[in-house]
Amino acid sequence: MNTIDNSGMLPPLSAMEDYDPDAMPVTQARRFIRQFLRPVAEDETVSVQDAFQRTLSRDIPSPMNVPPHDYSAMDGYALRHADLAAGRTVFSVAGNSLAGHPYTGAVPAGACVRIMTGALIPPGCDTVVMQEQVTVDGVDAVIGGSHKPGENIRRVGEDIRQGEIALSRGQRMGAAEMGLLASLGLAEARVFRKLRVAIFSTGDELLEPGIPAEAGHIYDSNRYTLRGLLSELGGAELLDLGSIRDDRAAIRAALLDAAARADVIITSGGVSVGEADYIKQLLAEVGDVVFWKIAMKPGRPLAYGRIGNSHFFGLPGNPVAVMVTFKQFVTDALQALMGRAPAAGFTFRATCTERIRKAPGRVEFQRGILSQDAGGALSVRTTGAQGSGMLSSMSRANCFIVLPMDQGNVEAGSTVEVQLL
Ligand code: AMP
Ligand code: MG
Repeated sequence: MNTIDNSGMLPPLSAMEDYDPDAMPVTQARRFIRQFLRPVAEDETVSVQDAFQRTLSRDIPSPMNVPPHDYSAMDGYALRHADLAAGRTVFSVAGNSLAGHPYTGAVPAGACVRIMTGALIPPGCDTVVMQEQVTVDGVDAVIGGSHKPGENIRRVGEDIRQGEIALSRGQRMGAAEMGLLASLGLAEARVFRKLRVAIFSTGDELLEPGIPAEAGHIYDSNRYTLRGLLSELGGAELLDLGSIRDDRAAIRAALLDAAARADVIITSGGVSVGEADYIKQLLAEVGDVVFWKIAMKPGRPLAYGRIGNSHFFGLPGNPVAVMVTFKQFVTDALQALMGRAPAAGFTFRATCTERIRKAPGRVEFQRGILSQDAGGALSVRTTGAQGSGMLSSMSRANCFIVLPMDQGNVEAGSTVEVQLL
């Protein structure tokens, strides 16, 4: 289990352009992290039914043509176009070709075969006339309309040719890929092994859901948010190390345990500069870690680094900040470590229907509700109060309103950038 190039130590910070630990731009932090990400090397074989959300470790050339033969795209009558061209309109019906039950006999000149969608084209036939253009007169079919040679036929190999790369290394297996793999007749695929991701929360105030509330305590929500975020991403095996007290020895033990078992460690809380915020000191002892105050809101304090061979992400404690920093930094990093090709991160422009107060100097990720009018135009409003502890705002949101570094207040009616959630 060695996902990291051991020679690639974190470079001296002085080597980074414009390094400002108190206001690190989001894009620069992302770029910095990216240079340490080496995808997992090991792969394994999984069955097609277990391949969902896994990442292909090899290109898959198609073992066959898709479709494998010429098939009818319509219910109708298969015939030779030359007969139509010679002026024939009345054809005798030689037999039936149904999906899974091909017509195997010969088709005499001047004859046709009744054919259903998905049925094999009988030998000698090159055109299918749809049944709406045919009238049946006793045992004969009377063909109306005008027809092009080859119409209504799905050609052999028109989707994928034999030997063509049907699925690529680095591709994530989604619903379409599941079906595509099966359509090639393949029951298995080679995929990168799952990324082992350890998570724990820190804080003396944290309680497990299910036990009675106590004054001065709150329920640990971050671990459950992280579970959901990791499941949405897929391809990871979760090691949940629970919530750890604000106790040096306990946090140290949890970090070492996580580093021994996981490729990636994600913690929440304890990265500020409060008295009980031990993560920073401990990481200096057991690992190699960079602390940043990212020029963003929410999510200002963020730690990234390594402990042994594991990548470490120290997320802030505030529940909304956990989601924002995960989506802005951790998602990309995990995808890269899983061997996935980078996904296009689309943003949209929408009209903001309300005024938003904003100070220049940091990127803000406001929780937004995007909607579309009958004409298709996009407009967005915020979810209301934007406290970084307010998870209900995250739950109501369907997008982030991304307000750039230099942006000041946003006036109602102006255009803003949104990222779909
Ligand atoms: P910290 O970064 O540890 O100072 O935490 C910042 C804020 O987030 C505090 O109000 C904590 O109580 C809260 N917090 C920390 N961890 C969690 C958690 N796992 N679930 C919910 N809230 C948390
Ligand atoms: Mg704390």
